[in-house]
Amino acid sequence: MTNLVTAVAETVSETPNSVAISFDGTEQSYKTFWERSGQFAAALNAHGIGEDDRIAIYLPNLPQFVTAFYGALRTGSIVVPMNPQYKAREIGHLLSDSNAKAVVTLSENAAAVSEVQPDTDVDTIVSIGTEVEDATDFEAFLANETVPVVERADDDVAVQPYTSGTTGTPKGVLLSHYNLASNTRSNMTLPDPPISPEDNLLGTLPLFHIYGMSAVMNAAVFTGATYYPVAEWDPQVVFDRIESEGITVMYGVPAMFNDMINQPNADEVDLSSLRFVNSGGSSLPMEVLETFEELFETALFEGYGLTETSPVTHANWPGVRRKGSIGKPVEAVKAKIVNQHFEEMPRVETGPVDESVVDLDEVVGELVVSGPNVMQGYYGLPEANEEAFTWEDGTRWFHTEDLGYWDEDNFFYIVDREKHMIVTGGYNVYPREVEELLYEHEAVADAAVVGIEDERRGETVKALIVPAPGVEPGKDVTEDEIRQYALNNIAEYKHPRIVEFCDELPRTTTGKVQKYELRNEN
Ligand code: AMP
Repeated sequence: MTNLVTAVAETVSETPNSVAISFDGTEQSYKTFWERSGQFAAALNAHGIGEDDRIAIYLPNLPQFVTAFYGALRTGSIVVPMNPQYKAREIGHLLSDSNAKAVVTLSENAAAVSEVQPDTDVDTIVSIGTEVEDATDFEAFLANETVPVVERADDDVAVQPYTSGTTGTPKGVLLSHYNLASNTRSNMTLPDPPISPEDNLLGTLPLFHIYGMSAVMNAAVFTGATYYPVAEWDPQVVFDRIESEGITVMYGVPAMFNDMINQPNADEVDLSSLRFVNSGGSSLPMEVLETFEELFETALFEGYGLTETSPVTHANWPGVRRKGSIGKPVEAVKAKIVNQHFEEMPRVETGPVDESVVDLDEVVGELVVSGPNVMQGYYGLPEANEEAFTWEDGTRWFHTEDLGYWDEDNFFYIVDREKHMIVTGGYNVYPREVEELLYEHEAVADAAVVGIEDERRGETVKALIVPAPGVEPGKDVTEDEIRQYALNNIAEYKHPRIVEFCDELPRTTTGKVQKYELRNEN
């Protein structure tokens, strides 16, 4: 029914001369953007890359991301987005697991790709920036001609982002053309009136993450609106863009909104052009919501979703809103709260509940969802797929592993995550990955990584370390050394900002570290 490429091709034929992408004062019309993505597609074909091949895009938010994304899809290829902050150790797994054949990257990151290349199927590296060995410059890579669009069925996979869930090992999430297109279409209609060619969408959410890719980039190019990529988060740059470009739609994570309200000039800026602002990715503190609305005189609507659901399953929108709630299921999505036997939990009257009156244990269960946006499954992981879904009366329900409750008006509330994933400044950190790195340090005997509450970032990564026998903390190894070691090996946002040495970690009888206790110690 819908293919991402044909949806955008329609927009291009309707609004060829409108601005598709505006970046640092340079504008690209829809016609130019489409032409360039066709040239990128032709270049891929010329390198023997096409239908069902994987292409990794390892870039910050730049116009070239959009070109490469749609260029790859035009050839029938599958996009594997990778966080540009990842180092060699982190991209190695993604590239080999996905069997990616090509990587598009910044020239400063090309060395990381070359380092892991021998263990992967990568034979084409395209780079942006100064020329580097082993890579072809992005502009030189583009072919002189374009190629016809390869037809894709609804269920054909378009994008394969990676997410870890509870297991710690990143899993490839298979999202089809229909998964993504249906979710983008429902997101487009959340603002009132829906997003149109007159809108300007701010691209602060990273494009490697499904939220920025689907809710912002795709929503812009589906509707003929203008997409304004912002390569790095900076609240002052964001203020400036909103004021000077007349940004109308902004999606962000709570840490971004928190940063904005804490700027010294927050009460001097004029953000009145904004007509729809949405927060997702982690829970939005009430304090942030209310201060934001007061300072900037615009509503801040909370939404909820996951990579596995392309991503949005719930949202608040004009006229349908309850503060503190993740909102109602969006168009075509069904959701419910179930106990461990998959029985529906009772609904509360009207949330959010007062915890001193309602016993949360009586109403909290796992949020499960079904709908056209729910992934095809995890790539090559039959066991994980078994666990992720429950079939009931012909409906396939996806387990979010988030705990919450629902009310009689069908508003949903999240109370906690079942999983231990840490969300810091909008980025996900999977403790086990950091723990495994720490275990590799010769001075470390045991380690646990937890997220502790942090006003600015939402959560901060903290490592508790049991030193190896004979190692004296402060003398043989310091907190700083551990921090530096992590910084050298993994993306900056993942490193433990707080390191503490201890004698032993609290464990259950089955050997699991009791993270709940560790978090509560703070
Ligand atoms: P990701 O797959 O990176 O999109 O992460 C999905 C996870 O983010 C969900 O399972 C939730 O734990 C969390 N999340 C997203 N939106 C919200 C929200 N509004 N409130 C609480 N948690 C959220």
